[in-house]
Parts: sequence; C-alpha cells; structure tokens
Amino acid sequence: MKSWRVALLWALPIVTIGFFIWQGAFANPGFTAGNNAAATRMSYGRFLDYLDAGRITSVDLYEGGRTAIVQAVDLDLDNRVQRLRVDLPMEDPGLVSRLRDENIAFDSHPIQNEGAAWSILGNLIFPVLLIVGLFFLFRRSGNNAPGGPGQAMNFGKSKARFQMEAQTGVMFDDVAGVEEAKEELAEVVTFLKKPERFTAVGARIPKGVLLVGPPGTGKTMLAKAIAGEAGTPFFSVSGSEFVEMFVGVGASRVRDLFTKAKENAPCIVFVDEIDAVGRQRGAGIGGGNDEREQTLNQLLTEMDGFEGNTGIIVIAATNRPDVLDSALLRPGRFDRQVTVSAPDIKGRLSILEVHARNKKVSDEISLEAIARRTPGFTGADLANLLNEAAILTARRRKDAIEMVEIDDAVDRVVAGMEGTPLTDGKSKRLIAYHEVGHAIVGTLIAAHDPVQKVTLIPRGQAQGLTWFTPSEDQMLISRSQILARITGALGGRAAEKIIFGDDEVTTGAGGDLQQVANMARQMVTRYGMSDIGPVSLESQSGEVFLGRDLMSRSEYSEDIASRVDSQVRNIVAKCYEDALDIMRDNREAIDRLVDLLIEKETIDGDEFRQIVAEYAEVPEKERFVPAV
Ligand code: ADP
Repeated sequence: MKSWRVALLWALPIVTIGFFIWQGAFANPGFTAGNNAAATRMSYGRFLDYLDAGRITSVDLYEGGRTAIVQAVDLDLDNRVQRLRVDLPMEDPGLVSRLRDENIAFDSHPIQNEGAAWSILGNLIFPVLLIVGLFFLFRRSGNNAPGGPGQAMNFGKSKARFQMEAQTGVMFDDVAGVEEAKEELAEVVTFLKKPERFTAVGARIPKGVLLVGPPGTGKTMLAKAIAGEAGTPFFSVSGSEFVEMFVGVGASRVRDLFTKAKENAPCIVFVDEIDAVGRQRGAGIGGGNDEREQTLNQLLTEMDGFEGNTGIIVIAATNRPDVLDSALLRPGRFDRQVTVSAPDIKGRLSILEVHARNKKVSDEISLEAIARRTPGFTGADLANLLNEAAILTARRRKDAIEMVEIDDAVDRVVAGMEGTPLTDGKSKRLIAYHEVGHAIVGTLIAAHDPVQKVTLIPRGQAQGLTWFTPSEDQMLISRSQILARITGALGGRAAEKIIFGDDEVTTGAGGDLQQVANMARQMVTRYGMSDIGPVSLESQSGEVFLGRDLMSRSEYSEDIASRVDSQVRNIVAKCYEDALDIMRDNREAIDRLVDLLIEKETIDGDEFRQIVAEYAEVPEKERFVPAV
C-alpha cells in the first residue's frame, strides 16, 4: 500500500477525534468570549453579595447583558483578583447605574456571529473529509492489482485478464520435436490465412482445437507459432483466471474476451488449462461449482455464436482431456484434438539444438549424448537443463558449457540442489550400505535398468542416491521389469537389515517402501499381473472428481479387496526375500563397494559393475539403442 494511503487511513480517526474536541470548544454558538469560557462560575446572589462588599473590580457584559465576566478580589486568597462568570437572570437596568455609582469599570460586548459560522463549518468539515477520504480509498483500490480489496466493488464491470500480442514472433521452427502436431496445425494456419479456399467449396472452418499433452511439451509455443505463422494477433488467458468469487464474473470475462477477439479477427484465442473451467458439469459433492458452470456455458455460447468464417480460432490446452465436459468436445467446438506428447530421442535432440542456438557450447559436447541421457524430459525440462548448465558455466567462470556442467545440471533438474557432503560417521556408513544395496540388486537382476552411478552427495531430500539409466522411451513395461524395480527399491532396506540387524533399520527406506506399495498395488489392480487374474479393479480418473468417486465407489467386493491386499503382500514379501538373498550372497562385494563409496563419494556404473563382476556373475542387460 502506498504511504500516503496509510497516512490517510491514520488521518481519518485523528481528524474525527480532533473534530469532537473542537466542537466542545466552539460549538456553543452564543458564548464566544474566547478564553473567558474557562472562567469559574459564580451565582448571581453571590455576585450581589460581592458587589455589596465592594469586592468587584470590573464587569464585562456579554450576550446583551445575559452573561458577565467579573473580576473580584478574593479575601481568602491574599486579595488575589479572580475572574468569575455570572449568569444574569434578567436584564437589570439598575445594575448598570449601580456599577457607575460604585465606580466599577464595566463594558458591554456585542453578540458575535463569527462563532455560528465556525460552528456550521465545523459541523460540515467532518462529513466532507470522511466522504473525500473514502472516495480516494475506493478509487485507489479499484485501480489496484487484480484481486485487491476494491475488486469486490468492481464485479459488475469485469476486468478481462487476457493478454494480447499483436505479433508473437514465434514460428514453427522454434518448436521442435513435435512434428506430427505441427503437421496437423499447419492446416490451421491456412484456415486463418486463406479462409476463402475452404469456404468456396462449402467447408466449415473449425472453431476450436484442443492441444492435449503433459505440461512443458510446448502447447503454448505451438499456439503462438500458429499465430506467428499466420501473422495474426494472439489472445491468451488461463482457464483458472475465469473462476472468481462471484458467480457471473467468469462469464462476463469470456464475453469481453470474445468481443475483443472479434474486433481483431482473424486471430487466435488461446485458453490454457481449460480443464479449470471445462470440467464435466454436475460433478462433485453438492452439484459442483456454479461459477465454473456458468463460465463454461458462456464459453460454449460464444463458440456457437460466431459464424464459421469470422476468423477466430480457439486453441485450448489441457493435460486431462478425460475430465472435460463432453459438450466442449462435440463437433463445432473443440472437435479437433492434437496430442503433443513428451519428445522421443529425435525430438529431444532437435529441441536441444533449438535451445543451444543462443548458448556457447564447447565442441566436445554431443547434444545426441544429452538426448540419450534424458528420456522422459519434456521441452521445458530440456530448455531448463541447458539454462542451468549455462548458469553453472558462468559461475565457474568458463567460456563455454562443457559436459561436466551438463551432467551436474541433469542431476540438479532431476534430483534437486546439491547439499553438503556428510561427515564420516555411522550414518554415512549406513547410507552407503543402503545405496549399495539398491545398486547391487539393480546390477544383478537382468530385468533391472543398469546402474549409472551411486553417490553419497545429498541432493534435494535424499541423503544418497543411486542413479539408473532408464531404457529408452519405454512405452510398455513387463511384469519382470516391475518386479525387478520392486526388488531394487527394497534393496536399501534389505542391506540395512542384513548388515546392521533388525533393530538398526532406519527411516531412510520410507520413500522406497511407498514406491514399492504403489507398484505392487498397481500390478494387482490395474495391470492384472497377479493370481486374481486379468481384471482391472481401478478406474483411472484419479481424484479430480472427489465427489463423484466417493459416491460411486467400491467397484469390487470386500472379498476381492482382501484378496488384493494379500496379493500385494505376497508380491512384496517375495521381492524382499530375493533382495535379502542377494545381500547375503554378496556380502564381500558389498563391504568393498561401501568402503570405496565412502572414500570416493561417487562410483560410476561401469566401475561398480566391474567390482561386482569379481565376485558374481553380472547378467548382460538387453538395451534398446534407438537410432537418431
Ligand atoms: P506447455 O504450454 O505445454 O506447458 P510451453 O509451451 O509453455 O509448455 O513451454 C514452456 C517452455 O519450454 C517454452 O517456453 C520453451 O522454451 C520450452 N519448450 C517446450 N516445448 C518445446 C519444444 N517442442 N521446442 C522448443 N522449446 C520447447
């Protein structure tokens, strides 16, 4: 808040209090004899007594003779002169002649109207100040940042919070690795540039395109690139910004947005996170959210409202197409769906090439090697990776990004900030055994991803880490692979138990056990990989419709539920036994690896495998190496 507003807030109560004090002093309209107001009062009878006793020295008459201020000699106080106020009960003509006779100085003062004027002003000034103050306060907060306290007063005139870019400056070339999506969308550019080609043959130009894909895969960039290629303005708004406290605000925002868009047609309107407004209506406890439904209705009405060839194309993005209201997806609305998935190795390479353009990269770096190391990374992750590497390079005062920086950046992006290494001690030894436990299971089970490195340098929440090289772009995972992962995840706890005994196992395995439980339960309830058989016992909708799911719960009987539990337990128990066996059989190798790990802090995958091979047979792992 600005300082003058704070001052104003303080000033209001101070002015109010000041006003009342001032009223006390001036608001008596008749008697305005200045400081005389403070004189002590004396009764009329006493005044006459004093007069008789010759103790009055002067008399000043006020208000046409109704009040007097007199000066009297006080005999009790050493003849000191006192000022006293006397209310005269009636006009007493005899008084004046008596004063004259007794030679007492007297004077008469006129009635002062000035006081009345002040008083009227006084009565007015406070309300005026208050009104002016309030006016300023509301005006300021009304102009404030969105969501300020004045927002509530403004709900009638919605402030559409969309952004408009006349030229996005993004081209299809800037978006890499999503070739299929680009091909589909190239047509949209033609709709915008040459609509007559389609309308001439009676084709209706689609109004909406839904981009579906995980966050960071370049959906916003694609939408901008369409506008950029077609040279049209780009309006963007996020679905969540429609949803406000007051019912109807979202709807009026939608109206505003489309009014502006129509003025600027042909153009692209991009609605990010459309699932925030476009969820199935009527879902949730108590019938859902009125505001959201009204907003959605307005959006549907607007999309129906503009003719096929007004040149507005609405592009919406979501990563949850399954939760969208079916009315949004019917022909005439978002009838085109374009999937933007996480890039494959080729895609990653081309995204890296795009983002390496404006960075200094040393010659020794192979972008292909980076692409290989980063399965599952989205475009945003890769952009972030190169940026982190560039920051590290600058911090290390090097001229160009080298492979060490890339490696460090990958670790950082995946596992978080590097912490300070542990000092040697019992817990470091325990963590070393835990990690070597994971790594040795990973090395000795054929179906497990190979170890990339084991480290005791803490990152993020983890005190030590074992990295595995995930196999390239796996779409399907086999039962033996999941079992291998479960066994590997239990390797840490198994090592702790075998080396230190049951009483010494630690909380370090908490995260591992959670993963284990998830994987085992999914094997049983989703993938039909247990003795219960190939049945799916779980809907995939996740928790977005909490209300709906609660109400239509329990797709299976209690009997099945207890069978699921016992299957999960069996799977985990079997894998744990396997992990314990590996620990018992390879104790020597494990001890040596732990000593080496404590000494070096990090052991890389090849060295790890060589050492294990001296004690046991290391299975060959079948790796699918895709061509680039
Ligand atoms: P989304 O909208 O899918 O969440 P964005 O389009 O906002 O993702 O992407 C975020 C950032 O990630 C972009 O600014 C860009 O730097 C980078 N990025 C994502 N995908 C790509 C891609 N396919 N090609 C190049 N850069 C990409």
